[in-house]
Amino acid sequence: MKQDWLNYIDGAWCAGGAGQVDIVSPGTGEVIARHALADEADVDRAVQAARRVHQSGVLTDLRPVERGRMVQAMGRYLLDHKEDIAPVLSREQGKTLWEARREIDGAARYFEYYGNQAETVEGRSIPLGAGYFDFTQYEPYGVSAQIIPWNFPVEIAARSISAALATGNACVVKTPELTPCSSWIFADAAEAAGLPAGAVNILCGWGHQAGAALSAHPDVNQVVFTGSVGTGVAVAAAAARNVVPCVLELGGKSAAIVHDDADLDAFEADIRMGIYFNAGQVCSAMSRVLVHESRHDEVVERAVKVAKSLDVGPGIERGEMGLSMGSMVSEAQRDRAAGMVSQAEAEGARVATGGRAMNIPGAFLEPTVMVNVAPDMTIAQQEVFGPVPSVMPFRDEAQAIEIANGTQYGLVAGVFTRDLDRASRAAQKLRAGQVFVNQWFAGGVETPFGGYGKSGYGREKGREALWNYVQTKNVAIRVG
Ligand code: NAD
Repeated sequence: MKQDWLNYIDGAWCAGGAGQVDIVSPGTGEVIARHALADEADVDRAVQAARRVHQSGVLTDLRPVERGRMVQAMGRYLLDHKEDIAPVLSREQGKTLWEARREIDGAARYFEYYGNQAETVEGRSIPLGAGYFDFTQYEPYGVSAQIIPWNFPVEIAARSISAALATGNACVVKTPELTPCSSWIFADAAEAAGLPAGAVNILCGWGHQAGAALSAHPDVNQVVFTGSVGTGVAVAAAAARNVVPCVLELGGKSAAIVHDDADLDAFEADIRMGIYFNAGQVCSAMSRVLVHESRHDEVVERAVKVAKSLDVGPGIERGEMGLSMGSMVSEAQRDRAAGMVSQAEAEGARVATGGRAMNIPGAFLEPTVMVNVAPDMTIAQQEVFGPVPSVMPFRDEAQAIEIANGTQYGLVAGVFTRDLDRASRAAQKLRAGQVFVNQWFAGGVETPFGGYGKSGYGREKGREALWNYVQTKNVAIRVG
């Protein structure tokens, strides 16, 4: 692994005004690299570079299909370099190598999808009677600022960069200070695709410094933030002072409702991916499992079996897709999750399996299952952001929906049943931006994703996301 990593501003690699940050591999606890940290002046240089690109018209004047081709080329570049990126991502983030490879595939898919969509952003004509010709067109905002979290740094950056470029914006991306190294690939990909210098700027910096400077910068025209609720509020407030729109993708405490007629054999795969994928550090994780009381014990037994089946250890050593789990992103995140488990025990919950930091170097938490959890306990209300599902029984459909909807969040929800009427009723009543029926994480890049309540606003993924990156202009022409 390369030792020193730089920021990429206006087409050039550069050191940061705020020094460097040590990158610790959470799979071993060792420092593996250092990354440049941007200060306010670096952020300003990046924003000005993006602004120049926008104002030059070099992106906006292109026929959209040509922009789309460049966006698609970036995705192909990622795939061609998957074996360079995945080990870096696995080492800095802790995820297994197979999860890292999967993340690169997911990132590339965004470039493929939004590259395809570039030429579909069409306006409409509005009839105003004789003597007028009126139409709308969609124009990019200009400088799109994107603040990225550490759980899927490559995939989440790809999601925003691809949609922003496809619609003709220039980007300034603030990468997460725990996992910044793997984002170098976006600079190389942009160059290889023929994008002009300044169209894609990638910089790491402290949230309170570079992140705050970026979200408050007066020449930023649109902000996309993915991360925690508290930071999202700060970012949105800073953007509001410049009257700049924001997309907020925040956390979740998403519930799967498992009815008495659910296919529990199939549900084991949903538990495995729903809460242990990426060591549970997924905003749309299945962190609550609400199960009909008649099948509660059986679901707990199956969840414990899944948790115990996982081979946990350094992610970089786990390249074969399967029953393995890497570390959490840092010891601090691991200790926070373990602390939430202990607090829940003190409140009367019980650990059915796991729950403890593992006695090996690195940020490992045992795959966990919590039972005897009451819906109002902290562990059932707040994100653990770790491999820790809370299993809770329900009596009837109404109670299941009430518990599912009973948090401040509303990112995703799931219902597992063979009864389509029951599933349809749940889909209507669940307060969440996305409802999965009979498969957790069903959907894809094509399907809109985003939150109700404190899970945020605006949508990423799907065609919906495009409208966050453009503004509507109406042109009314008086004719003859
Ligand atoms: P975080 O909010 O601490 O950090 C996210 C990003 O914001 C980082 O790049 C950080 O440097 C930056 N930041 C921190 N303070 C800032 C400030 N004052 N101004 C501007 N930027 C600032 O979150 P995290 O710890 O990186 O990620 C975990 C959280 O993110 C969890 O709550 C998780 O649910 C959520 N998340 C949501 C999604 C989603 O798509 N909805 C995806 C991933 C993570």
